[in-house]
Amino acid sequence: MASEAHDIVGIDLGTTNSVIGVVESGFPILLADANGSRITPSAIHYDGDDVVVGADALRQRGISRQVVTSVKRFMGKRYSEVADEDSHLKVEQAADGGILILGRKPEEHSAEIIATLKRLAEAQLGREVKQAVITVPAYFNDAQRQATKLAGELAGLEVMRIVSEPTAAALAYGLDKLGDSSKVAVYDFGGGTFDVSVLEMRDGVFQVLATDGDTQLGGDDIDHALAQWIWQQAGDASELQAYELDRLQGEARKVKESLSKEETHSLQIPFFRENLHLELAVTQEQFERVVAGVIQRTESHCRRVLNDAGVESVDLDAVVLVGGSTRIPAVRRLVERVFGMKPDLSQHPDEAVALGAVIQGGVLSGALRDIVLLDVTPLSLGIETFGGLMNVLIPRNTTIPCKAGEMFTNAVANQKEMCVRVLQGEREMARDNWELGQVNVLFEPARKGQARVGVQFAIDENGILEVLARDTQTGKDTLLQIDSAAVDVDDQAVEDMVSESVDYAFDDMAERVFTEAKLKAEELLPAVDVAMQQLQEELSEQDVVEIHASVEEVRQAMVAGEANRLKAAVQVLDKATEQMAAILVEKAMEAALMQSLEEN
Ligand code: ADP
Ligand code: MG
Repeated sequence: MASEAHDIVGIDLGTTNSVIGVVESGFPILLADANGSRITPSAIHYDGDDVVVGADALRQRGISRQVVTSVKRFMGKRYSEVADEDSHLKVEQAADGGILILGRKPEEHSAEIIATLKRLAEAQLGREVKQAVITVPAYFNDAQRQATKLAGELAGLEVMRIVSEPTAAALAYGLDKLGDSSKVAVYDFGGGTFDVSVLEMRDGVFQVLATDGDTQLGGDDIDHALAQWIWQQAGDASELQAYELDRLQGEARKVKESLSKEETHSLQIPFFRENLHLELAVTQEQFERVVAGVIQRTESHCRRVLNDAGVESVDLDAVVLVGGSTRIPAVRRLVERVFGMKPDLSQHPDEAVALGAVIQGGVLSGALRDIVLLDVTPLSLGIETFGGLMNVLIPRNTTIPCKAGEMFTNAVANQKEMCVRVLQGEREMARDNWELGQVNVLFEPARKGQARVGVQFAIDENGILEVLARDTQTGKDTLLQIDSAAVDVDDQAVEDMVSESVDYAFDDMAERVFTEAKLKAEELLPAVDVAMQQLQEELSEQDVVEIHASVEEVRQAMVAGEANRLKAAVQVLDKATEQMAAILVEKAMEAALMQSLEEN
């Protein structure tokens, strides 16, 4: 069968849990390990020369220091971005400024998880697996996507595509069948992260209209709150040791998970401390009261994502649940209240993303009928131009793959090189955005405005950016390799960027208007000076007075730093010098004519 000739497996590489599957005989299926479990905890235990991944590794967490969990948080990051982050892992700085955990890079740890999933799939299928689709959060930036791709490659897989998790989930829920221009919300509450996205179906493909969330909010916070409460109930006022809290949190998690199905659950931990046996019956109602604050924190993100996507909840055709924490009845009620409709419960929330990855893999391998998936850029991409302005080449929410280019020129005469700074962000001034990298383009010295450098941005279907700069005179290309760890920002900052751009919209706009007007003025003023000296006699007295007055106004507005005043002044000056410009053109033509007459 064709699908067997080249399987493309789908992988959900989660912070807490990971899942793998494949299209088999035309059906997308998820694959179970030897114990019959389809969900593999994203935990790795380095036991001497042995590497153990999954539930067995997780069990060693309280005992061994050689267990790595939640490594997804560190993918594609620099040490400086996570140095203050609260983590149970010992995070060290690598020589290249990247991250080392137990002497290994985050993508090497992730590769162990992927390799385990790959072996699991090969054992179930009885054949080798070589290609994969891997999912990432919609807000993952370029470096994080690159690191994920690298992890797959280190595990011996060719990564055919990196797909956004909400897009995969929508596919798993069969939302592609809702038809054109339908809009859906994907609410993903996992173990350590929360995100919510609004997607729209256009011409048969999904597009992420907006995404929002909190990378430090998940089921772990619920476990933590519940564990603290359980300890309070025990009536022991002493502090919990770190390993005790860890253990109690593990038990709280079991209580939480059974309370998603049962009204009450009895917790029993014999010998929690030497003479302390913990025993407690927890009701669903008590549980809900204890964790209400944690769950409530997701609401504002839902409101924001609707706002960002420019839709109201009544415009939505469906709301789907993703992530294990959405099994909690109180979470489902919150979703129903906020979005004003019952969420679709037709899929297992903790398997939906993987299922979508499998479907996408099946589409790519030809094992399933054609559905195309499109993603969008989470933030705008551009370069810095004159005056420190952000020049956007690819706006936020552009469907990928995409390409965009623009021609740039030298600002000063005899310039020999130009620094192209690649920026990501929503702010008007370059300095407020993030620098993804920079490249020096060398060119032949030329007069001001004579050099021509073409800059092209290309984002492939995996969301990976390539920047090409070309000196059009020599045809010489410079290709910018965006260093996979070059984004000196954290996830929270990604989320903040969009709201910040709204907060500063007016200030930013004023600064852009001022900078643009100032650039224009700096060009205009010396030109007017020169022309005035040449043409003083030929201008009417009224023109001369007017020009002097408007020159003066431009100078004052520049000193005052008032954007709109400067813009207006520059316009007045431009108008006042129209006559002068006309005379100059006439003179130039006369001179040219004289010259050609002389030559003949
Ligand atoms: P990831 O963050 O890797 O995407 P998942 O979507 O698998 O993780 O979600 C894991 C979280 O879901 C954990 O916090 C786990 O405790 C929680 N969870 C799993 N099953 C249940 C359940 N029945 N009730 C409540 N929470 C659950
Ligand atoms: Mg997940």
